[in-house]
Amino acid sequence: MFTDTAERLDRTCDLFGLSLSWELDSPILLDLLKKQNINIWSDLRTENDPIVFGGGPVLTANPEPLAPFLDVVLLGDGEELLPNFINSIKQLKDESRAYKLKMLAKIPGIYVPSLYQPEYSSDGTLLGVNPIFTDLPQSITKQTWNSNILGHSTVITPEAAWPNIHMVEVVRSCPEMCRFCMASYLTLPFRSPSLNDGLIQAVEKGLSATNRLGLLGASVTQHPEFLELLTWLNQDQFNDIQLSISSVRASSLNSRITKILAKRGSKSLTIAIESGSSKLRQVINKKLSEDEIFSAAKYTKEGGLKKLKLYGMVGLPTESDDDIEASAKLLIEIKKRTPGLHIVFGLSTFVPKAQTPFQWQGVRQESKQRIKFLHKMLKPKGIDLRAESYGWSTIQALFSRSDRRLAPVILAVRNSQNTLGGWKKAYKGVREDTIQTEKIPILLPKPPPWDEVIYSVWNETKILPWTHLNGPISELNLLKHQEIALNQNNE
Ligand code: SF4
Repeated sequence: MFTDTAERLDRTCDLFGLSLSWELDSPILLDLLKKQNINIWSDLRTENDPIVFGGGPVLTANPEPLAPFLDVVLLGDGEELLPNFINSIKQLKDESRAYKLKMLAKIPGIYVPSLYQPEYSSDGTLLGVNPIFTDLPQSITKQTWNSNILGHSTVITPEAAWPNIHMVEVVRSCPEMCRFCMASYLTLPFRSPSLNDGLIQAVEKGLSATNRLGLLGASVTQHPEFLELLTWLNQDQFNDIQLSISSVRASSLNSRITKILAKRGSKSLTIAIESGSSKLRQVINKKLSEDEIFSAAKYTKEGGLKKLKLYGMVGLPTESDDDIEASAKLLIEIKKRTPGLHIVFGLSTFVPKAQTPFQWQGVRQESKQRIKFLHKMLKPKGIDLRAESYGWSTIQALFSRSDRRLAPVILAVRNSQNTLGGWKKAYKGVREDTIQTEKIPILLPKPPPWDEVIYSVWNETKILPWTHLNGPISELNLLKHQEIALNQNNE
């Protein structure tokens, strides 16, 4: 279903679901439910309502802010979870809603938030989220699709966000494990289909319907046969295809790759450098040298591509003003060494993500000034700096680190203004009980202070809103990775 069209749902459906990959899309769930006349609160749904379920990386990492609106959350890979889930729904078709939910909650990777009760101390500290029935699991473990056969688009349409493009997932997860990266940590292990084990077939299938091909993945050039795939796409029979790839790993580039990409219609290349400071790249485990970055820029130009997009961040843990100056210096040097190449620097603010080693870190308030500083340094040098809004990054952090006490705030924002000011006002209003929202069917204490959720560095003994949900790496190991990272700064 396309959310921007007035498509009506068949009210007799059994299931209504959405997948979320971006925190700031979360409130759309409420709009979708309202549009379909489905009660937004899970607790108020009746036997005639569909089971409302969600999945995708945002909900797998921390579904708690949306928990009161969802009947079921699928933690992990859809290929693994959906068949079990749908078969169970079919088998339980004639059972009551309550019985269905209880049975679903016993299936590995299926989380039914209404059957788990958060407990808080008198000062609002989360003490745990526990099952309300003794025969339900104490914690729920994310499920992993243990196969190298990955997804590709089944719908190619001009109505899509990327129109008429056939997208093929070339890799899932990323073995690099940059300490902030949910795309790596949450989805491990790294998987890649071999060319002869479905990848070529998936590409051919799409190219019979469209000439636009997108190769997707957290870092597509990590695919062990990436050069072979490009060489195959370089055959004359594919002369009219237009190829796009997502972010590439700088160290895996050479001019042969960039030439094929240019020949197949790519105009630009995207590389995430995160920081121009080699010290900070070490802290975050980004195994990328300055020489590799300069070479990547050189190959981009040599290959005939017009634009190099570099992604970076401000506000990373341990970052100092010197690191920001190092970023500015590196970008200016790249520009100097590759004249004529359009350099874009996409800048975002570090946001702590659940299930990563930096989940205990906060958003750093210096980030705002550091974005301004980079603007001032880079614009006059002809570097096209495109910074994400610092303010919206703080809202992202609110989603990424809150528990279900955020639900009334989400509702209040939906009923008024989805602006930065609207979020702050709604949060304050819910905390101080001065905001009029629809009656909330569940008892929720007021949310913790705004600063504590967004900016604080959390103590490692803190019970996290997602402690009852297990990702691929245990909390203990995430802590060790954080420790290794932060110690790099002292060496
Ligand atoms: S290389 Fe990119 S995708 Fe891989 S872990 Fe680092 S940031 Fe994530």
